[in-house]
Amino acid sequence: MSAKAPITQDVMTIPRKLPEGPINLVGLTRAQMREVLIENGTPEKQAKMRVGQIWQWIYQWGVRDFAEMTNLAKTYRADLAEKFVIEIPEVVSRQVSEDGTRKYLVRIAGGHEVEVVYIPEEGRGTLCVSSQVGCTLTCSFCHTGTQKLVRNLTSAEIVGQIMMARDDLEEWPVPGEPKDETRLLSNIVLMGMGEPLYNFDNVRDAMKIAMDPEGISLSRRRITLSTSGVVPEIARTAEEIGCLLAISFHATTDETRDILVPINKRWKIKELLQALADYPRASNSERITFEYVMLEGVNDTKEDAHRLIELIKEYNIPAKINLIPFNEWPGAPYKRSSGNRIHAFADIIYKAGYASPIRTPRGEDIMAACGQLKSATERARKSRKQIEAEAGL
Ligand code: SAH
Ligand code: SF4
Repeated sequence: MSAKAPITQDVMTIPRKLPEGPINLVGLTRAQMREVLIENGTPEKQAKMRVGQIWQWIYQWGVRDFAEMTNLAKTYRADLAEKFVIEIPEVVSRQVSEDGTRKYLVRIAGGHEVEVVYIPEEGRGTLCVSSQVGCTLTCSFCHTGTQKLVRNLTSAEIVGQIMMARDDLEEWPVPGEPKDETRLLSNIVLMGMGEPLYNFDNVRDAMKIAMDPEGISLSRRRITLSTSGVVPEIARTAEEIGCLLAISFHATTDETRDILVPINKRWKIKELLQALADYPRASNSERITFEYVMLEGVNDTKEDAHRLIELIKEYNIPAKINLIPFNEWPGAPYKRSSGNRIHAFADIIYKAGYASPIRTPRGEDIMAACGQLKSATERARKSRKQIEAEAGL
């Protein structure tokens, strides 16, 4: 990346309603679903009830076929099937790491592909969801940031990643059977490809659907949105989504952060910290997670650790600091800090009274770790091409 790289959010969004063909009901808010049902002939007086019924079938039971919606009249079901579809992204490949991490490559409209990662842990399971194809930002340590092609995902494509994972984990409840309280997919992190706050409306709608108590029903405290620091959207996140927030902080001076996270040139560290200081109050949520990628010789000194604490204290932010050992990718301009360095950094933070967990890289063998998404896709493409060339196709 170049330090002068422009900061843009010039991305295309596919319209929800295509001019022809059936409308996808996935990803619509309750109000939007009501609207399209009425537009397509559902009597206005019945619309709210119909939304409730269809919503439960789609999001509570995981049904994709109108014929299975047995509490609706047969003729109405047939009518729905003519005008609507229930569609989620298609799984192109699925890899399972030695440590149980699953990485999915899914295809979305236009033939684009994004990656979704499922990370099983003791007593919980986290799905790392993508919000864009690629990313318009150009953080110098992140492989997704080197991808040229960018498009915003629709809310259907975002919530569809969660539905796809529930399919694969076989986690939809069966009607009549007791609900399993120990969920395999219990947490969502918006830490896949893309900057979620540059696709605000779709991310918000998708997360609202995931939180809806009559559906996937994930608590807002089990959803974490990670941002590189789109300051004006932070307060909106608190108001309109209310989930937990993680901030890709990564540096303690504007000089270094300008290079690592170029959006810092637009909104400086102090502006960012002020927005973060206001966040927990606004959203009534818990601590903010500071993500800090450990790059050898760049941001990993003891002075950095002390400065980080000073900044967080100055703004009185309830924080936890997540140290991420840098995950390398082909051609990356940085190296991972040594274990000693990372532990010394963590120690300083811990002694200052903040939790400082060191994130264990997961799924490295399948290139599923933080910041590695994209490379695997491209590699897979290359090798497919190579295979074809070798086979003389
Ligand atoms: N765009 C959002 C969310 C996606 S990135 C954001 O930047 O916050 C998710 C996390 O992975 C971010 O904290 C990001 O800084 C970190 N990350 C990116 N590349 C990485 C790499 N190569 N090694 C370790 N962490 C990385
Ligand atoms: Fe985009 Fe986040 Fe990667 Fe930066 S770290 S390039 S914001 S995905």
